[in-house]
Amino acid sequence: MPQKRLVVLGGGESGIGTALLAQANGYDVFLSDFGTISECHQAMLRKAGVSFEDGGHTEALILNADEVMKSPGIPDQTPIVAKIIARQIPIISEIEFASRFTQAQMVCITGSNGKTTTTSLIYYILQNAHLNVGLAGNIGRSLALQILEDPKDIYVIELSSFQLDNMFSFRANVAVLMNITPDHLDRYDFNMQHYIDSKMRIIQNQTANDTFIYWAQDDHIPTELQRRGLSPNSAVPSGSAGPIPAPTPSSKPAREGHPALCPFIDEDFTNLGLTFSQIGNHNKRNALAAYHAAKALGVNEQTIRQSLHSFPGVEHRLERVATVGGVTYINDSKATNVDACYVAMQAMETPVVLIVGGKDKGNDYSVLANIVRQKCRALVYLGADNAKLHASFDPLGLPVADTHSMADCVKACHDLAQSGDTVLLSPCCASFDLFHNMEDRGQQFKQQVAALSNP
Ligand code: ADP
Repeated sequence: MPQKRLVVLGGGESGIGTALLAQANGYDVFLSDFGTISECHQAMLRKAGVSFEDGGHTEALILNADEVMKSPGIPDQTPIVAKIIARQIPIISEIEFASRFTQAQMVCITGSNGKTTTTSLIYYILQNAHLNVGLAGNIGRSLALQILEDPKDIYVIELSSFQLDNMFSFRANVAVLMNITPDHLDRYDFNMQHYIDSKMRIIQNQTANDTFIYWAQDDHIPTELQRRGLSPNSAVPSGSAGPIPAPTPSSKPAREGHPALCPFIDEDFTNLGLTFSQIGNHNKRNALAAYHAAKALGVNEQTIRQSLHSFPGVEHRLERVATVGGVTYINDSKATNVDACYVAMQAMETPVVLIVGGKDKGNDYSVLANIVRQKCRALVYLGADNAKLHASFDPLGLPVADTHSMADCVKACHDLAQSGDTVLLSPCCASFDLFHNMEDRGQQFKQQVAALSNP
């Protein structure tokens, strides 16, 4: 049989993993990156004998592919991708490719918000249950590389809609869909249904051996299930802990049929008597999803409940930093859209000094007006250009401070907050105007708060 040619576009974590796994499995592999491939990644490719280029794409070496693995960060509109599509060369994601080389159980999490928290929590529970489990997808190491170098029995995988778009035969043994709210519409022709359809791909290829866990109070998911002939009537009743048929190990090839539906609603958290280390109603949903996923994998009730209690949380998501002078500082730098700030504000139980601002993505701040009026003592604007924030929030009549660096911002918060208050960094905006990324913004916040306690 002639060797199959796999071209990998993008020399980041997923591209390198795919190239090495493909090379080890006898593919004719070529990796191409328009930008720069790091020294470390180049060394890995050389060692494995994979041909590659960076600083541009050589069409002749790409358009002769049998299949292309595209990094999820590369949009379809990119000229080279448009040419690949025009030639009808199949484009697949890393997860789709890697899954061909494992019989491990796949636990996959998607949604517009809550993916990282829920994925990390499921991984934490499965580790506490002493299962041989790996973390992959948007977080963790490349799935392909793990399968090559350190194979596991179960993978917990965070999937973005971009990854799902290039998945065709992949089958999730346990699929989790947290919610669907407008996001990334610029990559879906500004058509919400296209984005919804992308998210619903999480259940494609699921069979009667598999489980689909979802938030039943979402505006879209129940309707979408009906459209696909999956009746929630056949679902496990809400608030019940089972019975969900556990996926059998190595259950591929698939058995026909629909997955067991496992919807949950907010009230289930109380009905099941759960406690969770993280604050906010949205986190109760994340806990419920993880609870059901772990149950579906046969983890015992006590381990799940204890893990929910002890979960340390994920950095930059409502992360408690310190209490200084009776004021609690919380880092929610990951809140880069208005929805995320809204759920964070809902979780606040004391007067709040709210830090907002950054690179605006066409935000409509009016949805925050009521909750800001109810809960905020003051607002601190943090951005290169705070004009829109002034226009949106100044009319509420709260004290405001205008800052352009994290040092000035935390100092202003310190001056405005009173003992018993919470200072919340939940900026609604991207960070690129003043910071490298949202992690850098969160780190700088934590450093400045630490400096308050040790001046
Ligand atoms: P994602 O990986 O989908 O971006 P994260 O777990 O990183 O999700 O959380 C990002 C932000 O979204 C958090 O700061 C939080 O404010 C908000 N969030 C988390 N979970 C949920 C949820 N279930 N529903 C709505 N918003 C959420």
